[in-house]
Amino acid sequence: MRSLRTKMVMIMVILILALMLTTGAFLLSGVSSFFVSQFYEQMEDTFSPEFITQLQQLAAEPNAPAQMKELLMAQAGLSIDITGRNVYILDRSGTVLESSDQKTDVSMTQNLLSAMNGEIGQSSAITNDYMDLAIPVEGGGEQYIAYILDNRATVDALSGELVTIILRALGLGIVICVVLAFLLAQILITPIRALTAGTKQVAAGDFAERVSVDSMDEIGVLTQNFNHMAKVLQDTISEAENERNKLSTLFLHMTDGVVAFSKSGNVIHFNPAATQMLARNLSEQTTFDEIFSKEAELDTLLTLRRPQYIETQKTVGDRELELFLAPFSSDQTQGGVLVVIHDVTEQRRNEQLKREFVANVSHELRTPLTNIKSYAETIVETGSELPPELQKNFLNVIISEADRMTRIVQDLLTLSKIDYGKMEMNITRFPFAKAVQNVYEAARLNAEQNHGHTMTLTFDGDIPDVNGDRERLEQVITNIVSNAVKYTPNGGRIEMRCGTRGREVFVRVTDNGIGIPEKDLPRLFDRFYRVDKARSRESGGTGLGLSIAQEIVNQHKGRIEIASTYGKGTAVTITLPAAEVRA
Ligand code: ADP
Repeated sequence: MRSLRTKMVMIMVILILALMLTTGAFLLSGVSSFFVSQFYEQMEDTFSPEFITQLQQLAAEPNAPAQMKELLMAQAGLSIDITGRNVYILDRSGTVLESSDQKTDVSMTQNLLSAMNGEIGQSSAITNDYMDLAIPVEGGGEQYIAYILDNRATVDALSGELVTIILRALGLGIVICVVLAFLLAQILITPIRALTAGTKQVAAGDFAERVSVDSMDEIGVLTQNFNHMAKVLQDTISEAENERNKLSTLFLHMTDGVVAFSKSGNVIHFNPAATQMLARNLSEQTTFDEIFSKEAELDTLLTLRRPQYIETQKTVGDRELELFLAPFSSDQTQGGVLVVIHDVTEQRRNEQLKREFVANVSHELRTPLTNIKSYAETIVETGSELPPELQKNFLNVIISEADRMTRIVQDLLTLSKIDYGKMEMNITRFPFAKAVQNVYEAARLNAEQNHGHTMTLTFDGDIPDVNGDRERLEQVITNIVSNAVKYTPNGGRIEMRCGTRGREVFVRVTDNGIGIPEKDLPRLFDRFYRVDKARSRESGGTGLGLSIAQEIVNQHKGRIEIASTYGKGTAVTITLPAAEVRA
């Protein structure tokens, strides 16, 4: 009963059965009623008033029953044939006196009873298995009943024949129906099969599948609708896929770490940034509690309604992480928690540096200000009592402190210009050796005359040109040389060496001065950092020189390196890219 074909065959068989049975029933009952009405029409024609008078006359005769029987049997219109139709003569009590088939009794019927009551009995239901007519005959004081009984043998034979024909027709009809049903089912099933195959493909994820439409009937329309649905589905899915790809690319490359957890607390997604920030491997086995148990509770997060979220902090090693935790779907089954991780280590460090810087600037400016104020006050308070030389002395201190403040402010301005990218560079191509030579010559006099240093300059071969801001680069080298002069006790040796290394040029300033303790080396480029504050200040330093030097060298895509042994001396090397060799 499963397949459409079986169902169609069954329906056809039931249809043909119903049709044939109704036709059969109508035919059989029609035949029966035709025979019954024909029987009574025959009887009516035969039993005319004259014929009845003739019978009444015979009734008065002696041996009336036999004579009446003979007359009736001889009547062609009655078609007495003994096998199917017989004639009986009965007296008024219902006793058989004469019969054509020699039977001595007959069953009592409705018509016989009517005749016994003196009335003609001439009705028969088609359901009866007989037809009869009973006529009361009265003559010469004698009363008889003329009774014609037909056992319907002819009708039954005909009906039997009819049933056989109907059954044969039914058999043939069923065979034709089954064949037709198969063919019809085939016509209907072929497009349905194609459609079924199509839906299977779509269900398996192949949305490109289209079913060909061969007809415009209901199945054709259904097929068209299916094709349209598959197309819409394909478009929607590819749109979603595209969206997902976009998101996953973003997810992969974003600098913030992202980890998604399922409702049960297992990792479902994470990006490389998250692995790096959390400094651990993540997998689907990793749970929320393993990573964030201290920061938040999964159950609490799951009860939040979007766009609510929890913001908190986490420290991993020396990293400061800022966490944003939020549920990503209100769906009961598919929800989960998304954690966005923001590395704020650098930001915190910068904030710290900024605070230190402000503190340093205030401190650096306050010292000269205090000196200026106290010297000025002394001059004012003592007035003319102060010997003129001392007064001059004090005023010189005030001027030198004011100069120092100016230097600090100038250096700060330079740094701030660099920081905000506002420092204008006057880039030209210039001979690097010439620039180094200039710095050497400008510094040598002071170094030798005021400090008793020996100063040398050596060039290793030809030195190529450099593209850059010559003035600033010369300032940088001057600064390095002046540091060497400052931090080397009088009578020291200061060597300048200029050379090339691959496609780079370098200048190295080596001294045999006080050197720098190893622990201070990493912080030398920090703003205001000084190994020996008193000494630096004494020699007019601001603690900003190396910071500015490094910024300027960096802007020229070069680098500055310091090697030093405490108590023995220092070597500072500036390396810069050489300009392209001129054709
Ligand atoms: P300053 O104005 O104090 O010289 P710099 O930024 O130029 O500031 O230098 C930072 C610190 O590095 C100095 O205070 C000094 O302690 C140290 N320094 C720089 N050059 C030398 C050197 N050639 N020998 C020893 N110490 C040095």
